[in-house]
Amino acid sequence: MKKLLLSMAAVALLFTACDDDKSASIEQSKVDMNDFYVYTDANDDVASKSANDKGNKKSCSSMSVLNRQLDANPGLERKMYNIELHTRQFIAGKGKPPGSGGSGTGGGDTDVDILPIQDNLGIINIPVYVHIVYPNANSISDSRVSEQMSVLNADFKNTNTGLLPSGTTFANDATNAEFSFSLAGTIRHDDPKSSWGTNDAVKVAYPPITPETHLNIWVCEIGGGILGYAQFPGGNASTDGIVLGGAYFGNTGGVYGAGRTATHEVGHYLNLRHIWGDGRCNRDDFVADTPLAGASNGGCPSFPSVSCKTADMTMNYMDYTYDNCMYMFTDGQRNRMRAIFAQGGSRAGMLN
Ligand SMILES: [Zn+2]
Repeated sequence: MKKLLLSMAAVALLFTACDDDKSASIEQSKVDMNDFYVYTDANDDVASKSANDKGNKKSCSSMSVLNRQLDANPGLERKMYNIELHTRQFIAGKGKPPGSGGSGTGGGDTDVDILPIQDNLGIINIPVYVHIVYPNANSISDSRVSEQMSVLNADFKNTNTGLLPSGTTFANDATNAEFSFSLAGTIRHDDPKSSWGTNDAVKVAYPPITPETHLNIWVCEIGGGILGYAQFPGGNASTDGIVLGGAYFGNTGGVYGAGRTATHEVGHYLNLRHIWGDGRCNRDDFVADTPLAGASNGGCPSFPSVSCKTADMTMNYMDYTYDNCMYMFTDGQRNRMRAIFAQGGSRAGMLN
């Protein structure tokens, strides 16, 4: 693995070296890819979580699903590397945000402030197909679907700084990501299967509808205490989209019943990593204005919750905290999500 990563880093150096020859404007887009990774120890995490945490912690299987897809698809790692390279070059080309440091993505400094890039993309609308797969698919009503759409629309356009825990230092990082979501259709499938797991079986049984231009959301019983999982940009179109457990879809009550599992999984779908980088303090989420964190946080932490010598951003949608204790994406996360819709980006085709 290390060997492959090193050889890809060399390719990136060559690529940027060629850019140097072309023009000064492209030279601004030189980026450091040394910290890029795809494989994680997420499979171990899931095992220890079910053994130790008794379901008290949110469980998202996106990284273990990614590990499996990387093993099955030898070209995926390179594809994701190229998407990451495009993302970093696009953001860097829009001007180096103040405080982002000279190289890499920073990470440990809670004072790092990133500015929203001016990408001229406006509000990015994502049309959504919802597939409800349950023994009685009508058990999840149209109003639940509407609730979930409302949560997505609110979370991707609000800053929620008034809701942040007292004492937080992160108010200046909270962002309006400028995405909207419109319901293109709800398709119900009565299916007696009681547990679909995370191997994409539900997507094989009920394939996505025009995934090149639409976000597909499957709502079904996943099992294993798993709330949801997403596919990152770069994966196969035939499995593109997110899967949510029905108990966590819309406003269902309970600590994970405010619709934020969808917000979290759409974050992955738009190329966000977990806020703790799925590793210890030496792994970043490729976002400079989210501090390094040693692990996920659960529950509803008061501020500050410290790891890696700085306060964790436990209130970020990409942590594992309770739905009503997460309030924000950051400007850096906003820039990352929007970059994949820029020219040459992996989801740019959705805008047409
Ligand atoms: Zn996740």
